[in-house]
Amino acid sequence: MYDKIINPSDKHSALKVSPAIEQPGQVNEEFLKRHVKGKTLSIDDYVEGILNKNRTILSRAITLVESSRYDHQEIAQKIIERCLPHAGNSIRLGITGVPGVGKSTVIDVLGTNLTKTGHKVAVLAIDPSSERSKGSILGDKTRMEDLSTDPNAFIRPSPSAGSLGGVARKTREIIILCEAAGFDIVIVETVGVGQSEIVAHSMVDFFLLLQLANAGDELQGIKRGIMEMADAIAINKAEGENKQKADIAAGQYRNALHLFPITESGWTPNVFTCSAYDNINIDKIWETVNEYVIHTKQNNYFYKRRNEQNLKILSESIDSHLKESFYTNPMVKQGIIEAQKDILENKVSAYIAAQKLIDDYFTDIKNKK
Ligand code: GDP
Repeated sequence: MYDKIINPSDKHSALKVSPAIEQPGQVNEEFLKRHVKGKTLSIDDYVEGILNKNRTILSRAITLVESSRYDHQEIAQKIIERCLPHAGNSIRLGITGVPGVGKSTVIDVLGTNLTKTGHKVAVLAIDPSSERSKGSILGDKTRMEDLSTDPNAFIRPSPSAGSLGGVARKTREIIILCEAAGFDIVIVETVGVGQSEIVAHSMVDFFLLLQLANAGDELQGIKRGIMEMADAIAINKAEGENKQKADIAAGQYRNALHLFPITESGWTPNVFTCSAYDNINIDKIWETVNEYVIHTKQNNYFYKRRNEQNLKILSESIDSHLKESFYTNPMVKQGIIEAQKDILENKVSAYIAAQKLIDDYFTDIKNKK
């Protein structure tokens, strides 16, 4: 170092060296403060970080929500509780459709259109395949190329652990965190197979079904239940040669929807064509959502639906707590093995065996008090 070679206090030296001033470190302290990876955070840190729109902290909080560890869940629930008063202000949009229909492409274009107009968009996924295998139908965030690098967008793949019910609960909690972090549009994406679309529908304000124009009978193979849930149907890939076919399909869907009973919201589902490739009518999706929100806020259905969704969480949570408490009870665990054996040997009926297990469970709980 220079101060070892030239002593600045040596008045006889021909060289004059000013006393050193403190130099900024090589590492930006502000960055370090913001860069919280690896640091243990308190609940206050998490809540403050989320409310300050810190994405790293939001991601870490979501990881806690997704974790099956008891201690993680305990912290996660405290964070959620404190974020709750700051949540609820987004429009929650569900998008479903079979693999290949163009969900991620549509969300990429729609989301980018929305962030350009000042919105903050969170995209969450519910992936039914995660229940059975570790693989996924929806894949990961790389599917949305523009949106995944957009600072005003946040993409999170489906929680992979547990049953569909577990994934649903976690996704609802993640919505709360995203809303508290200032995202004013939350898109919940799911594949239109199995039960996942019912689950997605139960947590959104508006549900969009994406379809393709296929040759032949358009309505073959589409589940009536999905059509009944849809607030709009968009026929994607409606460009070039496909446009005409898409228009015909749209007409068929409109006719089919006429046969359905009037919805409780008083809203008539819209049917239109779009092309994510050419960004045609993608804005129509958002216009339709806005019209729907105005309509349902005027007739109060918007609030009624959210209230019903919240109350459903209460009953679902009670169900899942009871189930977990029951099945993890050591006495029940042993009892079930014996009951299964007895049932297969025709020694007892399944109904009686179930009744006995439940009675034993409650006696066990009472004795432990
Ligand atoms: P997802 O499985 O529903 O998410 O579908 P993707 O968004 O991955 O799209 C499936 C395929 O359809 C991809 O090859 C896309 O490039 C293509 N695709 C998506 N939107 C359009 C569209 O509007 N027009 C055309 N021609 N192809 C599209």
